[in-house]
Amino acid sequence: MKTILVLGAGTGGVTAAREISKNSGNEEDIQLVKILVFEKEEKNVFSPSLPWLMVGKRKPEEVYEKTSHLDSSGLEVIQGEIEHIDPNDISITVNGKKYKGDYMIVSLGVDQQPLHHLDKYGYNFFTLDGATHFNKKLKNHTAGKIAILVSSLPFKSPAAPYEAAMLIEEYVRKNDLKPTTEVAVYTPEKGPMEFAGKELSEELRTLLEHKGIKYYPGHQITEATESGLTFSNGKTYEYDLLAYTPKHQSPDVIRNSSLAGESGWIDVDKDNLQTIFPNVYAIGDNTNITTENGITLPKIGVFARQQAIVVAHNIGRKMGNQVPDESFKGEGKYFIEYGEGLASTAEVHFYDSPQPEAKMKTPEQWGHWSKWWEEKYWFFKNF
Ligand SMILES: Cc1cc2nc3c(=O)[nH]c(=O)nc-3n(C[C@H](O)[C@H](O)[C@H](O)COP(=O)(O)OP(=O)(O)OC[C@H]3O[C@@H](n4cnc5c(N)ncnc54)[C@H](O)[C@@H]3O)c2cc1C
Repeated sequence: MKTILVLGAGTGGVTAAREISKNSGNEEDIQLVKILVFEKEEKNVFSPSLPWLMVGKRKPEEVYEKTSHLDSSGLEVIQGEIEHIDPNDISITVNGKKYKGDYMIVSLGVDQQPLHHLDKYGYNFFTLDGATHFNKKLKNHTAGKIAILVSSLPFKSPAAPYEAAMLIEEYVRKNDLKPTTEVAVYTPEKGPMEFAGKELSEELRTLLEHKGIKYYPGHQITEATESGLTFSNGKTYEYDLLAYTPKHQSPDVIRNSSLAGESGWIDVDKDNLQTIFPNVYAIGDNTNITTENGITLPKIGVFARQQAIVVAHNIGRKMGNQVPDESFKGEGKYFIEYGEGLASTAEVHFYDSPQPEAKMKTPEQWGHWSKWWEEKYWFFKNF
């Protein structure tokens, strides 16, 4: 029986493991393939819901499921920290024990680090705890400046700080705090989601302006204090409540292995997601993919899920002695919450050459319900 090691039970890992289980017949409780999923966290958080949690549109317990609940339908979940990866041998070490496979899928996401002691002064809303505590503070907020800070580049989900800002603006307005409260976004980016094209970036910026959100692009933080943020241009801005994105880096266990490319992330074939090691694949946020148009692919769940499906299919073909025939297309739809039960849909096609300008739709109910459905479907399908 073949063994498949799935590293990480986040978006990419869960999707890949479920897909292989479905395709191999394991879901029918006939164990034809051994699928081992390795994960260090006890909770599987659906991150796109974190901005809703920040403003009280979700409770913490509504945005996660227990990792142990994945342990069904032909999957075995092994909880613990992966300490070592040997891609040559297709093996890993967890809790001092070695596991060897025939295929390996690496989907370990990003490692989050607070810069400039931001964890002392604000809330990392890219985590369940950070978004929960931000919401507690927001409920007691009466007046002052609310800052949303992008602390460094690159960061996953490039729309998330803007969604957070637009949802916070809605909260502030609906709670009659608008006259006394300012919402501002500080970021080192030149514009929001600029990799998707000038047109989309301008449209998103216009949405922020309509809501009266102050926008400070080109602002790289150099120092934080209890009440102020200082940037590389020498300017300091005061704040009363702070939500920030952490520094993103490739997980240590990847950087300490031969999987890491020059950037520290894993270089993969952009079409089939194979690494330089036979039968070892990497998907999702821990990969580094540059398109023919010279764009580095953003770290988004839409891509992690699609890549997982491609890899699962191709491993299935290989196990059946067939030629792998699926490839990742580098395209997808991304929903950006606006507040008021509306969301914009952004459609991107990164592999087309020349790359077409990405378009963003005016915020509408359909976009919001699509995002709502993705959340419900994630838990329904996988747990
Ligand atoms: C606030 C926010 C909003 C977002 N909104 C959207 C959105 O609307 N649309 C969208 O497409 N994307 C969105 N994203 C991005 C999306 O969540 C990620 O791109 C996606 O989760 C990446 O999947 P992944 O499998 O690569 O990594 P992850 O889902 O992060 O999974 C990695 C897993 O590996 C585990 N792991 C890491 N190291 C180890 C180790 N040493 N041992 C064991 N386990 C380990 C981690 O605990 C984790 O569970 C959002 C993200 C955030 C933070």
